[in-house]
Amino acid sequence: MTELGNKRSKPRSRTRRAVLFGGLGVVAAGAVAGRDEIGRAWWLIPGVAKPRKEGELDHAGASWTSASPANWRMADRPDDYRVDRIVVHVTQGSFEGSVKAFQNPFHRASAHYMVRGDGHVEQLVREMDVAFHAANRSMNERSIGIEHVGFVDRPQDFTDAMYAASARLAADVCRRYDIPVDRTHLVGHSEVPGADHTDPGPHWDWDRYIRLVREALAAGPS
Ligand SMILES: [Zn+2]
Repeated sequence: MTELGNKRSKPRSRTRRAVLFGGLGVVAAGAVAGRDEIGRAWWLIPGVAKPRKEGELDHAGASWTSASPANWRMADRPDDYRVDRIVVHVTQGSFEGSVKAFQNPFHRASAHYMVRGDGHVEQLVREMDVAFHAANRSMNERSIGIEHVGFVDRPQDFTDAMYAASARLAADVCRRYDIPVDRTHLVGHSEVPGADHTDPGPHWDWDRYIRLVREALAAGPS
C-alpha cells in the first residue's frame, strides 16, 4: 500500500535540479512570471528532462494507465537520482480500486507498477519519475515501487502467476539500473525507515521471490 511521500520525510540536500529550479525561479519572478510560466520554462532547460510520450513504457510486458500527476513527481532518473532499490507493496484493495486511487489527484500516492494475480502488469508512473509509494522521500527518489494486488492476510492472493510476472519485472529493473538482487536492494514497504505500513506482510515469500528474480535475470532480457 502506498501513501504520501512528502509529509514525514526530512529535508534533502539541494540537488542539481533544486539549484537549477531555484535559480530559474528567481529569474522568472524578476520577470513577473506566474507559477505556470515557471513550470513551462522548466521544460526549456536543456539536458534536464528526457523526452516523454504519453503511453510510453519501461517494461516490455506492461500496459499503461497514467496515474494523476499530483501523485508523483517529475524527475530525470537515473541522471538526477540513482535508482538502486525496489520496494514491494501489497495494494490492500482490488486492481480497479487501486488504479482509480492512483488516478485520483487527492490520493497523493502512486507506484510505478501494479502486478495482478493473473500476471498482468500495469505501469502507472514512468521509471524516470518519482512515485509517492514509500512514505519516505529519499526512498521514493531512489526506488521503483511495485504493487501486488491483494491483501496481506490472504496468502492465496499471492499466486504463481503474480510471483513470476513480478520477478520478470524486477529482474528487468535490476538489469537496467544494475541493482544487485538481494534483500538489501529489494525491500518491503514495511522495511522502509519510518514506514507504518505492514505490506507485503508475512505471507510474501521473499526467498521464492529473490530466487525467481535471479532466475529471470540469468535468463536474460525477455
Ligand atoms: Zn505499501
